[in-house]
Amino acid sequence: MSKGLLILISGASGTGKGTVCKKILADMPEIFYSISATTRQPRTGETDGVEYFFITHEEFKKWIAEDKFLEYAEVYGNFYGTPLNKIEERLNRGENVLLEIDTQGALNVMKKIPDGVYIFLLPPSLEELEKRIKIRGSESPESLKRRINSAKAEISLGRKYQYVVVNDSVENAVEKIKSIISAEICRVSRNKKILDELTGEDFLIEN
Ligand code: 5GP
Repeated sequence: MSKGLLILISGASGTGKGTVCKKILADMPEIFYSISATTRQPRTGETDGVEYFFITHEEFKKWIAEDKFLEYAEVYGNFYGTPLNKIEERLNRGENVLLEIDTQGALNVMKKIPDGVYIFLLPPSLEELEKRIKIRGSESPESLKRRINSAKAEISLGRKYQYVVVNDSVENAVEKIKSIISAEICRVSRNKKILDELTGEDFLIEN
């Protein structure tokens, strides 16, 4: 059995990563979503164990000490981390795993899992990005300004990814990401085993 795909979606604050990921999971329920742990307070409507595992700073430090994270980062004063345990297990079982994390965390995952699929979501324009961050409304004026400035710096990191997808509408972005996933599943490098099985030892080609 081939290993599953690690699909990582990142992008600057306000590019709509969360909404896009929810729709992908609704359309592709076979994908395993990796729920992150965070020290931030739950927002209205969020449930522990659904959007995040909401844990204390003490617990977070304990998880770091126990090497329980694939990566973790401080984002806008709160800590966020990707628990490692389920990810390896699912990938080894051939299941595809989706991570939605910030740009610092994504760069760390790229180093650890080079054969992952790295997708960077872009806002259609800077004006639109500012509007989206403001609409979210849960920000103080200082934190809003901080988010917009760091969003601009983050966008420049898009060059490090394999794919960029403009989130002009959720439907368009989701369709593109689904196509990327299908194409990645068909890559020769991920299908060596089936090629070998079908051709047998006599027809093996080195590399
Ligand atoms: P929010 O608090 O709005 O849900 O998320 C803030 C930021 O943290 C977003 O950019 C989100 O992608 C990022 N984030 C969520 N989970 C993780 C994680 O496990 N690791 C890292 N590095 N960032 C995360």
